[in-house]
This record gives sequence, C-alpha cells and structure tokens, in this order.
Amino acid sequence: MLTGRVIRAIGGFFYVEPLGEAFTSVECFVRGKMKLSAETILVGDQVTYFMENGKGVITGIIERLNVLKRPYIANVNLLVLVFAFQNPKPNEILITKFLVLAEQSRIPLLLVLNKTDLVSEAEIGQLSGKLRQYGYQVICTSVVTNQGKSELLSALNGKVTVFAGPSGVGKSALLNMIAPGFKLQTGAVSQKIGRGKHTTREVQLYRINANSYVADTPGFTQIAFEGIAPEKLKEFFPDFREYNSICRFKGCIHLAEPDCGVKQAVENGVISRQRYEAYLNLLAEIRQNWKNRYR
Ligand code: GDP
Ligand code: ZN
Repeated sequence: MLTGRVIRAIGGFFYVEPLGEAFTSVECFVRGKMKLSAETILVGDQVTYFMENGKGVITGIIERLNVLKRPYIANVNLLVLVFAFQNPKPNEILITKFLVLAEQSRIPLLLVLNKTDLVSEAEIGQLSGKLRQYGYQVICTSVVTNQGKSELLSALNGKVTVFAGPSGVGKSALLNMIAPGFKLQTGAVSQKIGRGKHTTREVQLYRINANSYVADTPGFTQIAFEGIAPEKLKEFFPDFREYNSICRFKGCIHLAEPDCGVKQAVENGVISRQRYEAYLNLLAEIRQNWKNRYR
C-alpha cells in the first residue's frame, strides 16, 4: 500500500503526491464499490492507495489533524497571517480582529509583516515589537528587497501552510517569492480545466520542497465573526491568559468586574492600554451581535 498527500481535487479525480517523493503526482480515484466516498476526501488529506493500470485507487484517509473551512483543506500545520507596514497600514482594531479570527482556527500562527521597504527601521521595530509582546512569532518581509525570505521559508519547512490577511498586503506576492513556479503552475491548471479567469478555483496545494506545501488560496481575507460568545472572546488573547487566573471571578470578561487581573495588568503597564481597548471594542461588537442573534 502506498501513501501520499492530496494536492488537488477535480471532478472526482485526486492528484496525490507520494510521500517523500519529489514533485510527481499520481492521478487517483475512488472505486464505487468501496466504503470510501469521494466527497469525504479533502485537499491536504493523506491517503493510502494502490496502483492499477497507471492510476491510483484510493483505499483510505489517514486520520486528520484538523480541517480548515476557508479554504476547505485538511491537515493545516501553520497559518501565516500577513499585514503590511504600509499600503494598507493596519490599525489596532483591524489587527486585533484578524488575530482573533486566526486564534479561533486553533492552528499555530505566524505573523508576517510585509513591505518593510516602505517604512523606516523605527516603524518596523514599533509594530513588530508590539506584536511580539502579544506573544506572536513575527517575521518582517519585503518582496522588493527579499528581506525575510529565508526566515519565512524555514518557518514553513515540513508544514502545510495557509496564508491569510487583509487584501493588498502582499499575500500573492509573498507566495510567488517563496515559490517562484507558483503562478505559472496555477495558471496552467486553470487553463487546462477551461475555467474563466474570474471563476473561483478549487484550492490547490503547492509543494515548495520535499515536505512543505502552501495553499494557493488565501484563508480569511475579511472579518466575519461567526458566533463567538462574549465570555469566550478573552480566550483568543494569548497575552491575557496568564492574568485570567488572577481575576476574582472565573467567568470574568475583564470589563466591570472587581479584582480583575487583566485590568490590573493594564494599570501596571504590562498589557498596553491600546491592546485592552481593542479588546473592549471587539467585546462590545460581539455582545451586540450576540444580542441581535439570540434575543
Ligand atoms: P494580496 O491581496 O494580499 O494578495 O496582495 P498582492 O500580493 O496582490 O499585493 C498587493 C500590492 O502590493 C501589489 O501591487 C504588490 O506589488 C504590492 N506589494 C506586495 N508586496 C510588496 C512589498 O514587499 N513591497 C512593496 N513596496 N509592495 C509590495
Ligand atoms: Zn478579569
């Protein structure tokens, strides 16, 4: 029995790359008689198969690590959340919202701050320092100067990665930087299947080396909060976590409760006021949504 990863699914066929083997893909399908249904197989799945007349017959799906909904893909090891220093320059609220969305996926997160070529060293230090203080790993990049390229590549090593973030920050440009054949390949694929330029393509994984893949479709690019309960919001602020335990009440949402560890940390300057205010801002929005929906 052979094992491989599904990198593309089109019209009942699955393109599977044998594990550890460089840059070959096998066209596979699911036989009707088998218990396995084609609908249950996702891009990103690791499958077992055997060869028959030059094609692969899929026999099973190896247990999944996780499933991301947008793009619909299995076994994602890393979410790269991209912001730009400039064009568009993010504000605290936007950053907070994207961070919460990313945290919600429960996938390990890496922040990439792109377009360093457009700002000063001081500005680079300010934003990257702040986000590191929130507890995130940060890589600063520029597609123009190639800054951060090797650091980014090594962060993706051995992983299946999805890029996400607001539009215009340079997600496509970064993908092209780390995988130069990327654009060509996806272009060739959409031509082959005869789809219009503006039709949404199925997600595809692109192999950047023997054991690393990136998805050619970005994760969330817009902010949409689907049903976060107000009291759960704090879970998506990793930098608040160590102070949660100090709060007098277990269900403290760090708003008006007495003896709140997070509010104390803000008073002491360990959590920045800006960060806390972004939390309050989002909390208000989520409480409003929650009221409208569940009233
Ligand atoms: P996406 O919407 O996140 O995929 O963003 P794109 O990759 O389409 O990039 C948006 C614009 O930013 C394009 O005009 C890119 O050429 C430009 N861009 C991307 N990365 C950089 C960078 O590092 N520096 C500069 N100056 N421009 C960049
Ligand atoms: Zn509290």
